[in-house]
Amino acid sequence: MIVVMQPGATDMQISDVLSRLEELNLAGRLTQGEERTIIGVLGSPIVPGLGAALEALPGVEKTLRVTKPYKLASREFNPVPTIVQVRDVAIGGNEVVVIAGPCSVESEEQLRRTAHGALEGGAKLLRGGAYKPRTSPYAFRGMGERGLELLAKMRDETGLGIVTEVMTPSDVALVGQYTDVFQIGARNMQNYLLLEEVGRTNTPVLLKRGLSATIEEWLLAAEYVMAQGNRQVMLCERGIRTFETATRNTFDLNAVALAKRLTHLPVLADPSHGTGKWQLVTPLSLAATACGADGLIIEVHPDPDRALSDGSQSLTLENFTRLMEQVNAVAGAVGRTSALPASLIGTPLAIS
Ligand code: PEP
Ligand code: MN
Repeated sequence: MIVVMQPGATDMQISDVLSRLEELNLAGRLTQGEERTIIGVLGSPIVPGLGAALEALPGVEKTLRVTKPYKLASREFNPVPTIVQVRDVAIGGNEVVVIAGPCSVESEEQLRRTAHGALEGGAKLLRGGAYKPRTSPYAFRGMGERGLELLAKMRDETGLGIVTEVMTPSDVALVGQYTDVFQIGARNMQNYLLLEEVGRTNTPVLLKRGLSATIEEWLLAAEYVMAQGNRQVMLCERGIRTFETATRNTFDLNAVALAKRLTHLPVLADPSHGTGKWQLVTPLSLAATACGADGLIIEVHPDPDRALSDGSQSLTLENFTRLMEQVNAVAGAVGRTSALPASLIGTPLAIS
């Protein structure tokens, strides 16, 4: 349930509502909008007659039931967009934030070249997997802690915050010592113990959509994290499995546009995994930007043909810079901004 206060409700009236909720063993979560305050009511079961009781309090305009099964994640419950702050980068505001880096951390040299290329292209955060969920147990499964150390080293060198996957609850403490954002991979979207473990930290979470997850299941997975206290959650559409085999996945832009309506959390898009083909990454990045994505996560490798994972969907550093030029133009066309590649700062933008 949410309690909508009248415009101009006083602090005293707001705190009266909160104390009434406390008396009933319920918790209230305040959202201060520009015009009015909304109080989300948490706790189950909701007390019978609660709506009428709260509506009788001074300063309360009305109460509304939240109809969605996810509460904390829903826009009904919290109509104000959440801005996730990762170091000096704000995600969920006007800027389309681009996260770039290799699928896997492979070596210091590979990561350094990629990190500097990403920075020069205008990326705001560096991605790279140290613990890799691979379909085959015989494939390269990541460098483990050494990969985390290299990510942290590149953060020191470039100033880029880092995003890396955590695969199991018992690794959360270790990965958390290094990363600025926990990535929860598609295969783990319904690993509820992992979701709860990252939910008990204060580190932002990038929650990929599961390979076969409905949008509602995805938002309920976000709810698992948030219910433990961590409200810094970003959703990421990365393609779903369909009958189509011409592309690695079917990149579901419906989900981006719809999730933006259903939740206040930032919604990102991953056209690298969404398509599986580097040639499609730029066009689908533009489409995702046009339909409202708050950010993109892009796989970039200095030598994609030699990548130890996901080379066929990785952009070269040059192609990444081209992508950024075009994303910037589309972002501008839909009233958003994105970081200009360093190479273009001060030059007129010419898009072919
Ligand atoms: C990745 O980001 O490299 C990755 C494994 O992503 P996903 O979980 O979406 O497959
Ligand atoms: Mn990958």
